[in-house]
Amino acid sequence: MSIKIDFIGAVRTVTGSMHLISNGEYRFLIDCGLFQGHRKDFYRINSQFPFDPAGIDACILSHAHIDHSGNIPNLIKNGFDSRILTTDATRDLCQSMLPDSGHIQEEDIKYLNKKKKKKGEPLQEPLYTRKDAENSLQFFSGHPYEQQISIGGGNSVTFYDAGHVLGSSTPLLEIDGGGEKVRIGYAVDLGRENIPILNDPVTPPDIDYLFLESTYGGRVHAPPSETHDTLAEIVNRTVERKGKIIIPSFALERTQEIVYYLNDLFNDKRIPKIPVIVDSPLAVNLTEVFFHHPECYDEEMYQAFKNGDDPLGARHVKYIKDVEESKALHRDPDPKIIISASGMCEAGRILHHLKNNIEDERNTVLIVGYMAENTLGRRIAEKYEKVRIFGQEYQLNAEVEIMNSFSAHADRNELYEYVKPLKDTLKGIFIVHGEESQSEALYRLLKDKGFPVHFPNPGDSMEI
Ligand SMILES: [Zn+2]
Ligand SMILES: [Zn+2]
Repeated sequence: MSIKIDFIGAVRTVTGSMHLISNGEYRFLIDCGLFQGHRKDFYRINSQFPFDPAGIDACILSHAHIDHSGNIPNLIKNGFDSRILTTDATRDLCQSMLPDSGHIQEEDIKYLNKKKKKKGEPLQEPLYTRKDAENSLQFFSGHPYEQQISIGGGNSVTFYDAGHVLGSSTPLLEIDGGGEKVRIGYAVDLGRENIPILNDPVTPPDIDYLFLESTYGGRVHAPPSETHDTLAEIVNRTVERKGKIIIPSFALERTQEIVYYLNDLFNDKRIPKIPVIVDSPLAVNLTEVFFHHPECYDEEMYQAFKNGDDPLGARHVKYIKDVEESKALHRDPDPKIIISASGMCEAGRILHHLKNNIEDERNTVLIVGYMAENTLGRRIAEKYEKVRIFGQEYQLNAEVEIMNSFSAHADRNELYEYVKPLKDTLKGIFIVHGEESQSEALYRLLKDKGFPVHFPNPGDSMEI
């Protein structure tokens, strides 16, 4: 009985993570992510699965990011009727993230159908609705780290901390390959050492085959240690000008990380005590989940809570869900820090904050995450003189600062350090989850170093 791997999604690209592992008797899906890209590709790629969802024995979910979890409601709509196994924290994060994604699908279709109606074209259904997403939550089964879970037929999965976002894991599957057990690790996505809040990544023991992400397979990040200094300088400079600091941020992890760094700077009296506002209903819900999962904390975070400190800003940060409270911020001229979504400035409340603040040269827009091409965030990061928001042109007079030290993904050197100790025992590495050039850079590096490395194409199958 041989084991077959189908490389389905996030292969030579970054989004839509999805792979199938089968041994003739059982079929397991690892991740069921949304492919994110142009609208036409989005519907074409996400609406169909190249396998029968009803025939899957279990879905293993590595972490809550939508590019890994976001197509689960659609999988269930298409007949999947088994368990989705993941960590406890990932299950809890998905309770907010998937319904939020369903809401976004509905809004997108509303917008699209308005245009179709005008042209007399047939209307389209959303990929899934908020209700579909809520319905999918009952299939989730959450588990602690490092506990072996049976998935039928003598096969099992164990989750190891990936140190990428809260609840993230490197699942280790132990699959029956005909009397012999084969151990397959899935480091997609892999975090970094010494990032705040989270534990460092843990490598599962005795891996035979490894899926490895390569988002930054050809790049090296600034070290996390520079973050405090740079952030303090930017805040102080802006407050001296009596300006506001606007931070477009991803709701999961980046928002909580920034709050954590600001708390450190307040405690050390390195910045003045100005108001910090998190204005994003999703970020507020996700921050709540952080309070309930101390098993994901590193030693500093654990001690901070134990000492009565406030690392997630429960006392000093204003968390806003209500839209009227959000609007009231526009009328208040005092210096403050506003953290809001979406991360790439494509939708949501951040657009209102940008519109109201970017023409004032006293203010700062602080970029802390990846900005994809053709997004407003990218145009701001590239310091365009004028940008369009809600169809109107605005002069970009505010200071724009970019901080690259915030990254939740291992870079080229960190990926290499991760696999180095496994060199003598690994039988194969599969490079996935990266733009082609980044994946290829990592593939070449590992090949030159003598690793048994593979660089699959989308849709490829391999027997191991
Ligand atoms: Zn991720
Ligand atoms: Zn990812």
